[in-house]
Amino acid sequence: MKSSKDVDDFHCFVKHQRDATKNINIVEVVLDRAGDLACFKAIRAILRCTKNITCLTLRFSFEPELCILPIGKTVVFKNLTTLNVNIPHAALGHFLNPKHTQITDLAIGSCNAPTCPLASCRLPHLQRLICPPGCVQALTSADSPVMQLQIIHDTAQDASFPLPRLFDSRRIRTSSSLTVLHLDFDHTATGLRGGLLQCISEAAPVLDVLRLTESTFSDKVCQ
Ligand SMILES: [Zn+2]
Repeated sequence: MKSSKDVDDFHCFVKHQRDATKNINIVEVVLDRAGDLACFKAIRAILRCTKNITCLTLRFSFEPELCILPIGKTVVFKNLTTLNVNIPHAALGHFLNPKHTQITDLAIGSCNAPTCPLASCRLPHLQRLICPPGCVQALTSADSPVMQLQIIHDTAQDASFPLPRLFDSRRIRTSSSLTVLHLDFDHTATGLRGGLLQCISEAAPVLDVLRLTESTFSDKVCQ
């Protein structure tokens, strides 16, 4: 669903075809324009009827206010393994723990909190993670055997996150199993003694794939 009209149309479908909703595996909502409250209510109603989904995408061009999050607090998707959302991380934490600990693939948007609220989440099956640099340590632990990690910059604040906090003394705790690393970075602001590649090789010694991408916010960081 890519528009409020798509949401309305699909809401109409699930209201009249309840039996068909049992077979829906994937729900994707990507709204470029700010939706209104009615739109969020419709999304929430759709998600109440599609409990068997394995893959859920909720991406908005703005962060919806906490009071109108389109996921109801009591909703549980027992088969959900893939989640791609840019809702506030505090609300996401309530959604993940303890109801959705079976997640294997998680992609999240920017984190406005000084300390990521997802640190208390336990995701023992998490294998693939896409997140901003400030949330990596919160989501990679001995309990989360992440094999593929993509560290993205959604904001200039992400680009200014000090890389030594990721790769120097405090290693990525799941590093022993990390085989794929994709890192957005600002080459002028690495601040790593010994160089970036050296630090990554020490932090994640069994990497098969390493992709370094200059951050789209590098120019702003340099100013
Ligand atoms: Zn976070």
